[in-house]
Amino acid sequence: RQAAFRTDLSVLLEQVGSGKESLSFMKRRIRRLAQQWATAANRLDVKLGQRWRDQKKILVHVGFLTEESGDVFSPKVLKGGPLGEMVQWADILTALHVLGHNLKISMSVKELQGFLGVPPGRGSCPLTGPLPFDLIYTDYHGLQQMKQHMGLSLKKHKCHIRVIDTFGTEPAYNHEEYATLHGYRTNWGYWNLNPRQYMTMFPHTPDNSFMGFVSEELNETEKRSIQQNKVNNMAVVYGKEASMWKQGKDGFLEILHRYMEVHGTVYYETQRPPEVPPFVKNHGLLPQHELQQLLRKAKLFIGFGFPYEGPAPLEAIANGCIFLQPKFQPPHSSLNHEFFRGKPTSREVFSQHPYAEQYIGRPHVMTVDYNNSLEFDSAIKEIMRTKVEPFLPYEYTCEGMLERVHAYVQNQDFCVPQPPFIPTNFSRPLFVPLTNSTTLGWTSNVTAPAAWPPLSSLRLLMSQEGQSCVEACHSAGFICEPAHFRFINNKEALRGLEVQCEVVDSEINHILPAFSVMRRECGLQREPLLFSCAGHSPKYRRLCPCRDYRRGQVALCRDCL
Ligand code: UDP
Repeated sequence: RQAAFRTDLSVLLEQVGSGKESLSFMKRRIRRLAQQWATAANRLDVKLGQRWRDQKKILVHVGFLTEESGDVFSPKVLKGGPLGEMVQWADILTALHVLGHNLKISMSVKELQGFLGVPPGRGSCPLTGPLPFDLIYTDYHGLQQMKQHMGLSLKKHKCHIRVIDTFGTEPAYNHEEYATLHGYRTNWGYWNLNPRQYMTMFPHTPDNSFMGFVSEELNETEKRSIQQNKVNNMAVVYGKEASMWKQGKDGFLEILHRYMEVHGTVYYETQRPPEVPPFVKNHGLLPQHELQQLLRKAKLFIGFGFPYEGPAPLEAIANGCIFLQPKFQPPHSSLNHEFFRGKPTSREVFSQHPYAEQYIGRPHVMTVDYNNSLEFDSAIKEIMRTKVEPFLPYEYTCEGMLERVHAYVQNQDFCVPQPPFIPTNFSRPLFVPLTNSTTLGWTSNVTAPAAWPPLSSLRLLMSQEGQSCVEACHSAGFICEPAHFRFINNKEALRGLEVQCEVVDSEINHILPAFSVMRRECGLQREPLLFSCAGHSPKYRRLCPCRDYRRGQVALCRDCL
């Protein structure tokens, strides 16, 4: 069946259910953004023309909100607890509904069993028939529940699953045996999925798929009125829970206060939280639309280092604030910071909000060393004199999210086998503006059967020693594309890059395919699940499958739609 865009959200709102603060929060958000979604749907409808879109049967099982997983989030919705996940789930549900798919939503193990047609009871009776869904969106909690209640059949059906995974899972952590043998085992990873089945909140490592969420978009009239009403010396502090203010107590908060009126939205019950200095005007935790109003007036939105990578800075920038955040030197990661410890990623985080720093940057985002009071002081002064327009990257608009989710739903298929495929004419060179680290980029005009992203987007590069493919592709203006590894994991690609190897081995190692300069040895990858953009090693130059991307929509290549 053909899917048709929906602009009426009433059925969705009913499906979300009620009785919990988390659900009310999600429904308020869905209602508030309904008009934006409708406009976006109409625009994308026009953009896609008469293209056929399959209507998929989709189950969304929100594991972290089930009672069975302890649901620690719902009771904290009104108390300063994390809201980012709820923002994202609300937007995923809305996107799938608006795209016109046949949606079922489950928020308990009982509903899950009902939808899957498994008899209630623990794992005793696995699902025997075909899976009644084309796609299942869930999270790590939900995955665990499915394992318990679908038993053996999970293995058979897991290619249909998508895992919403805020911070991402790198390939080395996802491969059970490899993770166990090489110290990458955590509480979360090791499900042996295709790493692109994990879907993240921001574009972290491209090994995973970037799912994202949306932020409110302003029309021209609103933008103009915001700019007229900006209060140049008004700052709002990022952090709705008192503990997030601990770091900010001395030093820079004092400096900030010298120049600006400081506002906060810190949750409190009866008494003012002692962490919040007396000169701060604390509004308490605000409903989302009231926070937007506050951001419309403020000039500065300032982070103290926590929470990491939340939605709020994007909302602030979309409302014309400049986001000021601390640089982390050394970077935070699962090796040195409690928050990231045990998360299935080695990613190093160089500031509170790397996306804001790398994808948005000046003048909307300033990343400075908070320990250097001179640097901090001059940043504040610069912010007060800088005029900025409200800005929202396309990928975080409703239309951008619909476009991306549409492309994933229609094109990502992890159920069909992906055999190695050697493009025949690696010899057609395409010179890409590279740094001296990389030699030549090669492209191919061959079309591979059923490849998405299409093979035409491939640009092959060699990284420097110690450099990951994420960095190598980035430095050449591309993005690493894990789906293209199967085309470059061969001797032909090595020959194309004019790599002089004396030996070519095939091994199980997440750094491969790569070239050891010292030993003049080349290694190809024997385990496709370990193809990794993120991997790097000081001894290796890696073969990197890069691709082009659309401006403002990094998840999609030029020919991806
Ligand atoms: N938020 C809110 N009221 C407030 C402060 C924040 O509704 O007083 C919302 C904000 O609009 C954002 C969400 O909380 O969409 C998540 O914000 P944050 O970036 O703090 O991420 P979290 O740590 O909650 O995941």
